[in-house]
Amino acid sequence: MASESAESDSIFRADLLRGQVALITGGGSGIGLGVSELLASLGAHVVIASRKPEHFETARDALLAKGLSVSSVALDVRDQERVRAVVDDVAQTHGRLDLLVNNAAGNFYAPSATLSPNAWKAVLEIDLYGTFHCSQAVYQTMKSQGGGRIISTSMTLHYRGWPQMAHATAAKAGVDALTRTLAVEWAPDRIRVNAIAPGPIPTEGVRKAFTPPAESGIPDVFAAATERMESYARDRIPLGRWGTPRDIANMVAYLASPAGDWITGAIFVVDGGEWLAKG
Ligand code: NAP
Repeated sequence: MASESAESDSIFRADLLRGQVALITGGGSGIGLGVSELLASLGAHVVIASRKPEHFETARDALLAKGLSVSSVALDVRDQERVRAVVDDVAQTHGRLDLLVNNAAGNFYAPSATLSPNAWKAVLEIDLYGTFHCSQAVYQTMKSQGGGRIISTSMTLHYRGWPQMAHATAAKAGVDALTRTLAVEWAPDRIRVNAIAPGPIPTEGVRKAFTPPAESGIPDVFAAATERMESYARDRIPLGRWGTPRDIANMVAYLASPAGDWITGAIFVVDGGEWLAKG
């Protein structure tokens, strides 16, 4: 299985996260897989949690084949009871849980005027409720072991608004708010809570979700045509290239490491300057 985080080397010390346990929702594909691979390669035991075995089992097997310490579990982050059971099981099995990466999300284009209640609910429940369910579930374990880190994946589309993304932008704005509030509330327990807002990273998942209907007039930034992709990167992303899962994984590793010890409640934009330059 080809990881989208192609690089196997890392700028970080190889034992940076040795002995630590990380739970990564949606850790079997796209950005999440890049995060799983980097954290495991830095010595963490990584638990990949998502709904589909073709994601969590395939990714686990691919990383195990590279000699990394990885396990996986079926989880729908919308199911609060199941989230609690999975978190308790991880904490019991490994004796600790140091890092939660809230990466699971489900997004797609849909006009707000006709967005169905179910579509609205599904995205809010995965992106926002799921982030809260998982964060709340890890709290007690992290508190009793003397601290931990929660890192959530946000986005930048809600900074200025993005047509046909009312559900996702509302959910991710909620994730930002949750990040700041939990950071302040849980700092006395030494739980650091931060978020990362990625710019455009052409994962398989996002290509499906963010291909707008042709009649919408919204620019298809993930258009398959290489030339169009290249010109988007050249004209619209100041640093001149698309992002990779590794770009996000590097920020997760930094925040998870002692280098991030005095960082909480922050939302890091990792996007090559894209949102600032967006017209
Ligand atoms: P992706 O490959 O589609 O990843 C989404 C992951 O979430 C999948 O592994 C999926 O696994 C999991 N997931 C979905 N619903 C779930 C649920 N109910 N319970 C548990 N897991 C669930 O997309 P991606 O591009 O890597 O995105 C990863 C994160 O980055 C998302 O939070 C996204 O909003 C954010 N982001 C991405 C971009 C980008 O350009 N790629 C930009 C900004 C923000 P299963 O299907 O197996 O459940």
